[in-house]
Amino acid sequence: MSKILIVGGGAAGMMAGVFLARADHEVHILEKNEKLGKKVYITGKGRCNVTNNCDTEELFKAVMSNPKFLYSAFYSFTPQDVMEFFEEAGVPLKTERGNRVFPVSDRSSDIIRGLERELKKAGVHIHLRTEVKTVSADPYEEPDVDEKKAHHSRVTGVQLSDGNFLEGDCVLVATGGLSYQATGSTGDGYRFAQETGHKVTELSPSLVPLKTKEDYIPRIQGLSLKNTELTIKSGKKVLFQDFGEMMFTHFGVTGPMILSASAHIGKQLQKSGELNAYLDLKPALTMEQLDARILREFEAGQNKQFKNVIGVLFPSSLTPVMLELGGISPEKKIHDISREERIHFEELVKAFPFTINGMGEYKEAVITRGGVSVKEVQPGTMESRKVKNLYFIGEVLDLDAVTGGYNLQIAWSTAYLAAMALKNA
Ligand SMILES: Cc1cc2nc3c(=O)[nH]c(=O)nc-3n(C[C@H](O)[C@H](O)[C@H](O)COP(=O)(O)OP(=O)(O)OC[C@H]3O[C@@H](n4cnc5c(N)ncnc54)[C@H](O)[C@@H]3O)c2cc1C
Repeated sequence: MSKILIVGGGAAGMMAGVFLARADHEVHILEKNEKLGKKVYITGKGRCNVTNNCDTEELFKAVMSNPKFLYSAFYSFTPQDVMEFFEEAGVPLKTERGNRVFPVSDRSSDIIRGLERELKKAGVHIHLRTEVKTVSADPYEEPDVDEKKAHHSRVTGVQLSDGNFLEGDCVLVATGGLSYQATGSTGDGYRFAQETGHKVTELSPSLVPLKTKEDYIPRIQGLSLKNTELTIKSGKKVLFQDFGEMMFTHFGVTGPMILSASAHIGKQLQKSGELNAYLDLKPALTMEQLDARILREFEAGQNKQFKNVIGVLFPSSLTPVMLELGGISPEKKIHDISREERIHFEELVKAFPFTINGMGEYKEAVITRGGVSVKEVQPGTMESRKVKNLYFIGEVLDLDAVTGGYNLQIAWSTAYLAAMALKNA
């Protein structure tokens, strides 16, 4: 039996706590907030998309950074294992569109309650309002291990902000990323990693709203489009293409499809500063079908003004912008519109343009890209290659995935794997 300190009582910290205590270790969760799982509470718009009910093999495609590192973690604790865990913890689940799994109650608080019940049952010591200031390690000569592979220091415990020192045989850093800092994830784990000699890769917000350049975007703020196709290009190269839901805001665009896009275009946007985006407002229609549809409207309203005919094609708030960009005078009579003008307008419908010129900030990012370098962590155990008995789990690692329950799956799987590695410690 070892004394194990878990820094952070979020998704990864709680899951690791349950399995470590079930293996009869003395487990202490040190959480700086007044309650556990503050970020889990806001996940999935308060409903918590707890995992994705897909084949394990599919998970890797959803991971943007270092998917291979997660091989052991994902196969040790699959989405179906996660679902079984929560069902057994008294939280019935349901699978929705895109294999997204939620509690039947649609309440993220039920996921937290389920974990809290299991923590209590397993006898985990929970220390709330307990902030860790530093992780401590002493020099160490590892016996019988090749010099290149040997740990050069060994964890001894943690220094708390109140001045107390807590001794521990093992420390698990589960402090999360840098986004939505009000939930407690203020990036402390990156500092702990650096102070104990680990590399932290470049950090940036991901799964964020995107900023746009044109002044007509703020004018349609609040407009939400459900069935639209988005294409983002760098020059001629298509960086992202998807079909789904998005919304215009006072600074740009947001919504599920946009958040996913941000994960794919981040690096290129940083490099080039601006990217061209196009929305197909009628993705179900080919250009020919759209032409036929518009011709029908035109024939029915030959003597009407253009502005009074196209209203039926779009939500009303979009019509003024379509008129502005369409190149046809709003007052022009339908019978005076040339074929070229009509085709030009249809091209606008199939490729409504805007320019992306920035990403949202950490305070509105679902996830942090970058983190503790996975090169310095063993993928089969989550233990540091540098400091013996020091483990990193969850978002603090250089791992991130698209939306759909995959980021929590990363937290659950890495936590479980570390706990299993320590089972007989
Ligand atoms: C708005 C939003 C919605 C999301 N929705 C989903 C979703 O539906 N599905 C999904 O899969 N993912 C979602 N995510 C991502 C998901 O929440 C994270 O990937 C996940 O919570 C990471 O788990 P973690 O345990 O690594 O970190 P966290 O859950 O962030 O936990 C870290 C904990 O460590 C504590 N801590 C930090 N520093 C210290 C310290 N020095 N001392 C003591 N304690 C400390 C923090 O207070 C915090 O409680 C969402 C994220 C956001 C922001």
